[in-house]
Amino acid sequence: MRSFIREMEEKAIRGERLSYGEGCRLIRAEGPDILDLISSANRVRLHYFGDQISLCSIVNTKSGDCSENCSFCSQSAYHGTPIETYPLLDSTAILDAAKTAADNNAEAFGLVAAWWGLREGPELEAILERIRDLAAAGHLRTDASLGIIDTEAIAFKLKDAGLAYYNHNLETARSFFPKVCDTHSYDDRLKTIEYCKSAGMGVCSGGIFGMGENLDQRVELAVALQELDVDVVPLNFLNAIKDTPLEDMTPLRPMEILKIIALFRLMLPSKDIMTAGGREIHLRDLQSWMFSAGASHTLVGNYLTTSGRNTDDDLKMIEDLDLKHKTACHEDLVTKENLVQLEQAS
Ligand code: SF4
Repeated sequence: MRSFIREMEEKAIRGERLSYGEGCRLIRAEGPDILDLISSANRVRLHYFGDQISLCSIVNTKSGDCSENCSFCSQSAYHGTPIETYPLLDSTAILDAAKTAADNNAEAFGLVAAWWGLREGPELEAILERIRDLAAAGHLRTDASLGIIDTEAIAFKLKDAGLAYYNHNLETARSFFPKVCDTHSYDDRLKTIEYCKSAGMGVCSGGIFGMGENLDQRVELAVALQELDVDVVPLNFLNAIKDTPLEDMTPLRPMEILKIIALFRLMLPSKDIMTAGGREIHLRDLQSWMFSAGASHTLVGNYLTTSGRNTDDDLKMIEDLDLKHKTACHEDLVTKENLVQLEQAS
């Protein structure tokens, strides 16, 4: 197994695509082989990203009462999970959250909303206004995760309003998706990603692990993302929330999570692999290993309905590893001054 892992590392560094079969072999690494896999993933990360780690933050701009039935999600109206629900936040609240993200050294800030997605109408106009306001502040990259996009024309409107990256996770393998959600289809998700690419936005798309998918289905997701040629790949690890259909799922073990991160680094070697929801609770003391396993990016601050790790702890962890978080990349730094100016103007 060791020589096979090294062979896959060299292939990834040459920029060659690993196959589904090769991924299925890697994901079956056990015992000491997992450490070899992690070492290889670390070298691939260093080759493509050096010592740079990206940070981003999100804000839940519209919480709960979602019409969709995603089984992992506390915001689905189907599950009756007791979470705080609220309609679309106004620009001032969003700018406050952006200021916190800037203070936390994030380079990108994502607006997230719990609903089916975007169709023409007043809701779309309201979102476009929020995006314009945030982009006008100008300096923290403006991203969003707003569900399914109904038409390509809407994707162009988002881009024109100032949106840089659109997050739309495939969530899991096509072969497992019907067990996760049946109010919309995998193809609806693929179509949204294609619209974003046509409009010229960067695409952030990944999934959630630990929902009952098998090992091969994890690889199947990686292959789908290879084919879509997405830019950022968020990896979430199920935080089983009470009252959701997945509340009794057994949590992933830390080494299992590290193996998933390493697999995605090797299968998507030049892509920005981002650790997101669930990393803090499931990696526990192995938190800092996520970068050695290949992550080049992590989400800081709180998640949509759950709390994240203390951001100072994350920044310290990055510093202790002799890594650097990408901050203040030229004029892309949000200054508190111009956020204050925008708040005053709004
Ligand atoms: S994941 Fe998104 S679409 Fe699915 S239920 Fe949650 S908020 Fe709705």
